[in-house]
This record gives sequence, C-alpha cells and structure tokens, in this order.
Amino acid sequence: MEPQKTPGRTRGGPEPKKSPKPEATGFAEFGLARELLRTVERLGWATPTPVQQEAIPPVLAGHDLIALAQTGTGKTGAYLLPILTVLIDRPRAKPLNPSVVVLAPTRELVQQIDEQVKSLGAGLGIRSMTIFGGVSDRPQISQLMAGVELVVATPGRLLDLIGQRLVHFAELTHCVLDEADRMFDMGFIADLKRILYRMPARRQTLLFSATMPDEIKRLTREFLYQPREVQLAPSKPPEELSHEVWELEPDDKNEALARLLREDYDSVLVFTRTKHRADRVARQLARGGENVAVLHGDRSQKQRDLALDRFKQGDARVLVATDVASRGLDITGIGLVINYDTPRDPDDYVHRVGRTARAKRQGRAVTLLTADEAKYIRKIEQLLKQRIDRYGDDRRNSRSAADDARQRSGSRAEEDQSPAAKTRRRRRSRKPSGAGDTEVRSQTERQEARNHESATPVKDRPTDQPAAVKPVKRVTRRGRSPGSSGRSNRRR
Ligand code: AMP
Repeated sequence: MEPQKTPGRTRGGPEPKKSPKPEATGFAEFGLARELLRTVERLGWATPTPVQQEAIPPVLAGHDLIALAQTGTGKTGAYLLPILTVLIDRPRAKPLNPSVVVLAPTRELVQQIDEQVKSLGAGLGIRSMTIFGGVSDRPQISQLMAGVELVVATPGRLLDLIGQRLVHFAELTHCVLDEADRMFDMGFIADLKRILYRMPARRQTLLFSATMPDEIKRLTREFLYQPREVQLAPSKPPEELSHEVWELEPDDKNEALARLLREDYDSVLVFTRTKHRADRVARQLARGGENVAVLHGDRSQKQRDLALDRFKQGDARVLVATDVASRGLDITGIGLVINYDTPRDPDDYVHRVGRTARAKRQGRAVTLLTADEAKYIRKIEQLLKQRIDRYGDDRRNSRSAADDARQRSGSRAEEDQSPAAKTRRRRRSRKPSGAGDTEVRSQTERQEARNHESATPVKDRPTDQPAAVKPVKRVTRRGRSPGSSGRSNRRR
C-alpha cells in the first residue's frame, strides 16, 4: 500500500520535533495494538526494557532510528512491537512484495528474530518468513510467491533473490538493520548498500548495533533520515556474571577444559578462535564421552540447526562454537561459558559471556589464557572497567575444590527452573554418556559414530529437523484510523 506522508519527514522539510525523554511507562502507554499488549502480557513481559522504553515511541511516531543496543536487551521487541502495530491494519501483502525487511548477520539470528515475530504476531495474520543461504532457495521462493508481510533475511541470499526479481520493494515501508556492526564485520556492508539503494526512499529505517564503527556511522548518514538516537549504557555484562581468568600453558588447555566440565553444569558453551579448533575440541570431548554439539560457519545449515536444537533441548550438554554463536543466541540456562581461546576483540568477549547469566540468573565465564593472549585480556578489562581474577595452577585447583563444595551443597537451589532446563536435566540423567556425539564426527570417525548411534535409543537420537514453526492463523483485519500509527516517512 502507498505509505502515508508524514509532515516534516520529507527531505528539506522542517526538522521533526524532538521527542521529550520518555518517562518510565508500561507497555499500555505506548499506543501499541491491543492484541500485542495481550501477547506481551501472556509472554510475561511485565515492563518494557530500557531500549524498548526509548525506542518504541519514536518508531511508532514514524522516525528513523539508530539504537546502540546489543542482543539480550530486548531490542527485537523494541522494533517488532511498533512495526507489528502498523502491519495489523494493512491489507495483506502482494506476492513477492514484503512490507518489512529485517536484515541480520547470521542464520541463527535470522531464525531467532523470526521466532519472536511468530510469538509476538501469533494470531494477527501477519505472515513472516526467513531468507538465508546454505539451504535450497525453493521453499523460500514459494513463500515469497504466496506473499508475506515481513521478511527476516541475511543480506547475501536476499540480494540473490532480488537479482532474480523474486523480491520487489514497491510496497516496502520498513527496513531494520539488526546487529549492523556484525554485518559490517562479516563483510556484508556492500551487499547492504546494494539492498538499501533498491528500496524506496520513502521508508522508515531502523538500525540496531552494539557498537558504532565509522563505516556504520557513514551508512547511517547515507541511508537514514534525521534519525532519533537511542544510546543505552555501554556494553557491559550483567552483574550476575562472575569472570575468571585461568593462566596456563597452551598444552594445559584441554586438561583445564576437562576439569571445568567435570563440574555440575547442565549447559556449557565453549568458544574457540577458529572453526578448525572448534571441530578438534568437540571431537576430543566426544571421545571422552561428553554429549557435545559443534557450531561454526563451515557447517551446513542442517548441521547448524541440529547442533543448536540438541543444545537447546539438552541432548548436548556442551556446545563448542566460534564467534558465530557469540551474538544473538538467546538460550536461557547456560551456566558456564568457557573461552577456550581468549577473544581478540573485547566486544566479542562481552557478547560471548553474555550467553550466560541471562534473565537475572547466575552465570560464570572462565577464560583460558596463555602468555601470548595476555594482551587481549588487558583490552577486555579496559572495556569492562574491572580487573578479572587470575587463577594460576594452585589457586585454580583450590578454587575448583571450593566450587565443587559449593556445587554439592547449594547450587541446585539456584539452578535454572525453566521448563527447558528441567527437560535438559531429565534428558541428561537418562542419557548414556556420549550418546549425542554424532555432531562432531569427522570423516575418519564416521563409522565409529555410526556404531555409537546404533547403540543409542531411538527416542534419544538427534532429529535432523529444525524446530517446527507453528503456522500463523489468519484473522480478519480491522480498520484503524489512518495515520494513527501506520505513518511512514519520506526520505529524500
Ligand atoms: P533480544 O535482546 O531481543 O534478543 O531479547 C532477549 C530476550 O529478552 C528474549 O528472550 C525476549 O523474549 C526477552 N524480552 C524482551 N523484552 C522483554 C521484556 N520487556 N520483559 C521480559 N523479557 C523480555
């Protein structure tokens, strides 16, 4: 549909009024659609997060937006709630003509965003789909041909489909760039620009980024029109998270890892620097009988889905990953993050350790540090503005002993009581050790793994299917006064 012109939003028009700093409100005061307020309540979102507090009003008012916020802050809801409010009143999208495009750097993040679209938009009749590479494009094309209101995509595959004239932007009114800095890191900036140039000038553009490198600043100057800015406190891990650095020799990393994994954690995320190292560490843990999955950019989409699914369901207690999993993954109940390799970029540290201590739960991050990695930890400490406790051999052992005692005596009381975590614990207690290691098999170990699998009860075998997505039920749209919330802006 033709977006409505909002006074003051045309290039050269008067500067839009500065919105006063929003007072703390509940969701009900934003002017979001009533259906969404009910959904938010059902999801247990009692109050808006700070980024939602700051971002929802300007987005609903039709402004472009730059938000400095990282995953875990509720930023997806901050843009989805106002966008879905606008979409509710629109007629259904025509085939190949989405109204909204959300761009994100990785398939995992794309899927996670789409899950939120489906949970927030349940029952609204708003159709959404994911577009990413590494899988056949045929199902994606069929969905586009049937018509969808909202597309969540990685830039590369979207550009392919645009090139094949399977995505048109004539009806597009909203574009979201999620984790823009990560898209820049991954070399997507040229693709992003190509996509943005094809979009109608008259659109609303929302950019979310954890950091603001110069290239992203330039992008905002080129593609956003008089954006409102939302800046939260600089990236900082939650207070519920404890940090440790274990100083050791390179050859001692495996032993330290094994020692940590002997502790009583239901769900552990291990980060390595390279894909090769992730495979190696995972293989070795699997050989030791650990239920382990592995996630990195060289794995097929099916393997990545399977790995994540097994980790989320508790079939794999340990996920070994590269930084592909350091952002965006929203899994509650990860009690321990181990940096097998110290991240070189301090922002990556914040993202990695942010996978634990989510939703106010206790979390622990242990970094295995060799002498040649010491320079990286100093940069991390500068960013955190705190010195991280160091543990050498003696102290590390005594700390672990103390930890073991703590774990035995009381940590169960603090453990994650969410249904997913309970399922994980149940599965873990009934699963024979090593039953899930099919994720890490190498060419040479395939036969070994096959033998192993055949000994695994069928009900416990990993499924190749990604989590099923519930179909969205279509409801009749109701009328809403034009301009109440569906305004879009004209840019140049
Ligand atoms: P995000 O930063 O968008 O990845 O969101 C992180 C997690 O916070 C997701 O699991 C959301 O479901 C959850 N969430 C988002 N907004 C709220 C809220 N206002 N209250 C409670 N949880 C929320």
